Amino acid sequence: MVSDFVLTQGHCQGEQDGPEPVGLGSYGIDLHEIRRVVRDGMVWREGKGGGRVPRPYPIPYGTIIPSATEVTNLLVTFAISATHVAYGSTRMEPVFMILSQSAAIAADLALEEQIGVQGVSYPKLAARLIAAGQVLEAPHGTSA
Ligand SMILES: Cc1cc2nc3c(=O)[nH]c(=O)nc-3n(C[C@H](O)[C@H](O)[C@H](O)COP(=O)(O)OP(=O)(O)OC[C@H]3O[C@@H](n4cnc5c(N)ncnc54)[C@H](O)[C@@H]3O)c2cc1C
Repeated sequence: MVSDFVLTQGHCQGEQDGPEPVGLGSYGIDLHEIRRVVRDGMVWREGKGGGRVPRPYPIPYGTIIPSATEVTNLLVTFAISATHVAYGSTRMEPVFMILSQSAAIAADLALEEQIGVQGVSYPKLAARLIAAGQVLEAPHGTSA
């Protein structure tokens, strides 16, 4: 999904924090090769890439909601709004489980208030997420 907010490599590597977190990611950027090619008698892994993630980073609510101009009753917790490089880090199954728990709580709030998922109040959502045991910021001094 490409939405109004797109998570990028800079967010994963701590250059800037994304707003309104609904979970954390921490796996290093790990882009699997698309195919193997032979060049100059050597096998090359085309598309392979990676990068260090220095500490757990916030994953914003904006990554799991579509643009309000497209659809208002959908939460997307696997094919999130992230670049190819950022997705190379967020694509871990525990992250998808974390985001899905947050999405369920957001959906509950939206239903309760009869509003679209984009209208959910972040302070209300964050309070419910914390009450449910979600971790929304990395404890001080944590490294990935
Ligand atoms: C090599 C590799 C190693 C990984 N290792 C880890 C790891 O150690 N830990 C970790 O947390 N994550 C790991 N991941 C990441 C994680 O496994 C994936 O991000 C996750 O499985 C993605 O889940 P998904 O449901 O989005 O897609 P998928 O698991 O790919 O599921 C999509 C399903 O849809 C089916 N499908 C596709 N098209 C159609 C169609 N038209 N009709 C019907 N069915 C269809 C596919 O057959 C497939 O079963 C790894 C990924 C890869 C590729």
